[in-house]
Amino acid sequence: DTMVNQIAAGEVIERPASVVKELVENALDAGATRIEVTTAGGGLNLIRVIDDGSGIPADELPLAIARHCTSKLADDIHDIRSLGFRGEALPSIGAVARLSIRSRARGANDGSEIAVVGGEISRPHPAPANPGTMVEVRDLFFATPARLKFMKGERAETSAVTDVVRRIAVAFPAVRFTLSGSDRTRLDLPAETGDAEGTLRRLARVLGEEFPANALEVEAEREGVRLAAQVSIPSFTRANALQQYAYVNGRPVRDRQIAMAIRAAYQDVLPRDRHAVAALFLTLDPALVDVNVHPAKADVRFRDPGLVRGLIIGAIRQALAGAGI
Ligand code: ADP
Ligand code: MG
Repeated sequence: DTMVNQIAAGEVIERPASVVKELVENALDAGATRIEVTTAGGGLNLIRVIDDGSGIPADELPLAIARHCTSKLADDIHDIRSLGFRGEALPSIGAVARLSIRSRARGANDGSEIAVVGGEISRPHPAPANPGTMVEVRDLFFATPARLKFMKGERAETSAVTDVVRRIAVAFPAVRFTLSGSDRTRLDLPAETGDAEGTLRRLARVLGEEFPANALEVEAEREGVRLAAQVSIPSFTRANALQQYAYVNGRPVRDRQIAMAIRAAYQDVLPRDRHAVAALFLTLDPALVDVNVHPAKADVRFRDPGLVRGLIIGAIRQALAGAGI
């Protein structure tokens, strides 16, 4: 039902960056080792995501775009969102854009393609394809002009897309990511090893090659909550907090409490208008945190917010003190 899907789309798909987030997460869930993202017009004209993952068998293509159809288990490690939003992304995108999916399943000789335009689903037909999946989204929000009016212009949408890909890429160093626009390549992140070393190299690519030399290592644990972080020394700062990346159980989050804890840790060594560059990884029992309270947001709700805040502030201050700062 197009109307229901358009309403759902309002929840899941806020802007081009939300489409990119959903498509890249699907590619990761499919076990991709290479993910290529292309956009035009800030993603409003075109978003294309190509992966080399498991692909979708021809007879399952119609299911992939049916509401609440998911091939994923509730305890899938990459996709721990609440069940309520499962199987919503592709139908939501199909309700507000021109969506096409071309895929070739592992082991299949041929590919096939299906298209959805304003909620109308075409019959799948054979199409040449490499193993993996290519999803194209054209004319985002053409079916919902009111939403289109809220878009901030090509530059702002493009940087939101870039930001989303960067944040996800840091969590998956072993996956090669490229992001290109109509103009020039904006990201080319080669596959690294999947360990801490690889994460450091990926961070250098994303936050700047000078970052590791200007970063302090932070490690701490309290009551089962583990923190590993790389935080910049006070001379390596930015005018905004955009280069602070936070992860909870391997999932990128944008969370006010974490940002405020970082700010508090630097309170005595940084002026108010400067922000540390930081990558911060929290690991804890999934039962003690609710990630993705809402599909389009990346809020987290900790069972014990004070514990997490204290852990972050204490560990960063200790690292700064250890470096004589
Ligand atoms: P969800 O990810 O919550 O299952 P989606 O609407 O994002 O819901 O995707 C629906 C289904 O389509 C997925 O469960 C998966 O089976 C299939 N799918 C989507 N994208 C891909 C992809 N890139 N590779 C393989 N399968 C995919
Ligand atoms: Mg999905």
